[in-house]
Amino acid sequence: MAKKNGVPENNNQERDTTLVHAGTNPHAHEGAFNTPVYHASTILFPTVKDLEDNQTRPLSYGIRGTPTMRALQEALTELEDAHGAIITPSGLSAVTTALLSVLKSGDHVLIADSVYSPTRHFCAKILPRYGIDVSFYPPRIGAAISDLFRAETCAVFLESPGSLTFDIQDVPAIADSAHKAELWVLMDNSWASPLFFQPLHHEVDISIQALTKYVSGHADVMLGSIATNERAWTPVDNTHQALGLTAGPDDIYMALRGMRTLGVRLPRHQESALTVARWLEARPEVEAVLYPALESHADHDLWQRDFSGASGLFSVILKPRSARAVAAMLDSMAYFGMGYSWGGMESLILPVTPHRTAGSWEVTGPMLRIHIGLEDSKDLIHDLEAGFERLRSVD
Ligand SMILES: *Cc1c(COP(=O)(O)O)cnc(C)c1O
Repeated sequence: MAKKNGVPENNNQERDTTLVHAGTNPHAHEGAFNTPVYHASTILFPTVKDLEDNQTRPLSYGIRGTPTMRALQEALTELEDAHGAIITPSGLSAVTTALLSVLKSGDHVLIADSVYSPTRHFCAKILPRYGIDVSFYPPRIGAAISDLFRAETCAVFLESPGSLTFDIQDVPAIADSAHKAELWVLMDNSWASPLFFQPLHHEVDISIQALTKYVSGHADVMLGSIATNERAWTPVDNTHQALGLTAGPDDIYMALRGMRTLGVRLPRHQESALTVARWLEARPEVEAVLYPALESHADHDLWQRDFSGASGLFSVILKPRSARAVAAMLDSMAYFGMGYSWGGMESLILPVTPHRTAGSWEVTGPMLRIHIGLEDSKDLIHDLEAGFERLRSVD
């Protein structure tokens, strides 16, 4: 693969065009390029015949969506090269809806040990109440996942890279083993977005995204999506409808507007993240930087094989320091805000502690998760440099 600065050269030109045009239909909306915000619960039918013939049409009642929602569904279907896509009110509800779509009482499901912690909570605490047995597997297991399959195993859930620890999974190897055993393969692809990794091109059946993150991209929207292949579409669509989930048109409009510029935002997040990650790696306060685009990352080769880019989120392990010293660093950052979520234009920093049950995760020092936003990377480096001075000044 052609590389510049350790990063695969942008081969997303066609996808950039998709990002701008997918789901648009200006002449159905008085020529407006952006599909307008339709607020509707009741959708009127002109005649009894029309009512009877169109019970299953997409626009029959607000909960099934409006033209605004359909525009985002069409855009994501194209972007993910999917059979169809549904929109959920949050990334977490996309995860839970997707799992409920394929699991039933008596089943066993395998969940990557490095998943987003609310996903872990749902799997560990809620699914067992419905008679579903859950095991967490080491994310780097690869094809050996088949050793964990039981007669009742129904699905394998992946998230790559893993939340907080950024382990890259061998998605095709895991998916291939799972499909040989006729299991469903689900993946949370929020970190890369479909711009930098396409789950359905790597044998995944159900691709999940927190649209809250990079697709919306401006720290002001909560939404999720589930894009599926043809085989998974009916169970996912039926379950989504049965659960009564929908999402408001204003948020969907904002997600669509954010998505149009994903093709310029994500490469910029990547460029700045790589600059800051390389700077951090050379700092005496830093033990390790967990960013798959760095050559030092344990799964760099796997990332390079399967991904076409890296987004702006990574973790840093510091050399051992007191909690007081870390607080002194984080409490007075100029540009890095402290808060959950990521994927917006603003840089964020957060102390984190990964939770593992399928193997140990030994870290010697404090761990920080960093989101590199769209600020100038020189300013971000100065901010971190001043933070390290505060870190060193406190015992
Ligand atoms: C944030 C996040 C989610 C959940 O998204 P929300 O919209 O906040 O519910 C799911 N998966 C991953 C990997 C995330 O980082």
